[in-house]
Amino acid sequence: MLDKIAQLEKQSRLLEPDSPTRERLRNSVLNYTENFLNAVNEINAYNLEDTKGKGILDFPITDEPTDINQLIDSVEKNIDYPSLNPASGGHLGYIPGGGIYTSALGDYMADVTNRYSGVFFASPGAVRMENMLINWMGNIIGWEPGFVGNLTSGGSMANLIAIVTARDAKKINSTNIAKSVIYATRQAHHSILKAIRVAGLKESILREVPVDAHFKMQVSELKKMIAQDKQDGLNPFLVIASAGSTDVGAVDPLSDIGDMAKKENLWYHIDGAYGGFFVLVKEGKKKLQGIEKADSVIMDPHKGLFLPYGSGAVLVKNKEALLNSHYYLANYMQDTVEANEELSPADLSPELTKHFRGMRLWLPLKVHGLAPFRACLEEKLWLTRYFYEEIQKIGGFEVGHYPELSVATFRYVPKKSDANEFNKKLIEAIQKDGRVFLSSTMLNGTFTIRLAVLSFRTHLSTINLTLQVLKEKVAELQQT
Ligand SMILES: *Cc1c(COP(=O)(O)O)cnc(C)c1O
Repeated sequence: MLDKIAQLEKQSRLLEPDSPTRERLRNSVLNYTENFLNAVNEINAYNLEDTKGKGILDFPITDEPTDINQLIDSVEKNIDYPSLNPASGGHLGYIPGGGIYTSALGDYMADVTNRYSGVFFASPGAVRMENMLINWMGNIIGWEPGFVGNLTSGGSMANLIAIVTARDAKKINSTNIAKSVIYATRQAHHSILKAIRVAGLKESILREVPVDAHFKMQVSELKKMIAQDKQDGLNPFLVIASAGSTDVGAVDPLSDIGDMAKKENLWYHIDGAYGGFFVLVKEGKKKLQGIEKADSVIMDPHKGLFLPYGSGAVLVKNKEALLNSHYYLANYMQDTVEANEELSPADLSPELTKHFRGMRLWLPLKVHGLAPFRACLEEKLWLTRYFYEEIQKIGGFEVGHYPELSVATFRYVPKKSDANEFNKKLIEAIQKDGRVFLSSTMLNGTFTIRLAVLSFRTHLSTINLTLQVLKEKVAELQQT
């Protein structure tokens, strides 16, 4: 038996490379990431490529080791080349992501030490750090102490946690679900509709509140709908507003909706996944006024704080409500209850064992200080306005309403051909070109191009390049 154990130990110790081996592995990875970063301003935002990363399948999981350089080569070719490159400042589609380096270093530290940040008992420091970050977020949106929250993997999970909490706080169950009403506009992010389904609220009634010309919720219509529903014996319980819609960047009248929610006793949820962190900028703070009235808010550090993917956050004002929906005490965890000075993430979310997400957020905020984050957000607001003004100087382009945050909408109106067809071709031509990436949407039946500025690598030169690409592609399409 001892022989057997010794033999197994020899093998399993391969999982703990010695220092020189670590250095060799690390250097290979650092070489790759350094080359990636040194070229990041030159590489395309989008690469049309036929194999679509199929080559990665040449590396199936087997018992034998593979040289790391071979693996990195395959990652470069099959993963980091084809299709959309979210690290590029030319990524101006959907809502661009971030990827600041100091956050990657935070992940590296968190991963090497592998602190267990799920419960206070296991890593009180890590839990304090995460709760401190949550407190900071609540503080910047104007909440008084006493709220709770959770660092999630993203906005979708954060929305789900908020909606589950609203469901339970408003006592929605099998006896009243079919009579219970949720209010949102068409601009609500699809992750909200998904969360409603996942939360078991599919059978409740979802009312689409009409929007005004700027795609903002019409509170007068909301009021009418609630009154009618109450009169019909229904149970209005939740209203969901956008603090920056993904589609057009619309901010709903947050304050008025908040007053209505309070008066009618509805749970008030605000989706600030995209727009939430604009509160760090004076002007954004003003535009998001009323966010302090919400019962729950979500925001995405992997959008508005330029973190790599994998960071969302949910804030809930009523501590008991979030706990009631997520608290659980297993027998095998009985050692963990004592001396809990802080609430544990495991009691505030569906997760138990989780990534120590606090570190990837705390380290960059502390290493850089907040000032560059504020500047970067404000720069994005100005770049969007600059684009909005400049695109109108190119003949034939028509713009949507003045950008509220960092999304601008526009389209080209050709003299002869069909506009929807033309803009579809224009988007395709831009994607084929690849220097910048733009996405599109349908607004009231009109094919519309969107420019979303939120990558920390997008600067004035990127916007000028975008204008130039648009000009070139329109000219090329006109010729055919
Ligand atoms: C991105 C986004 C979401 C979803 O967040 P993920 O982090 O992608 O899961 C929800 N709402 C809005 C407004 C968003 O922009």
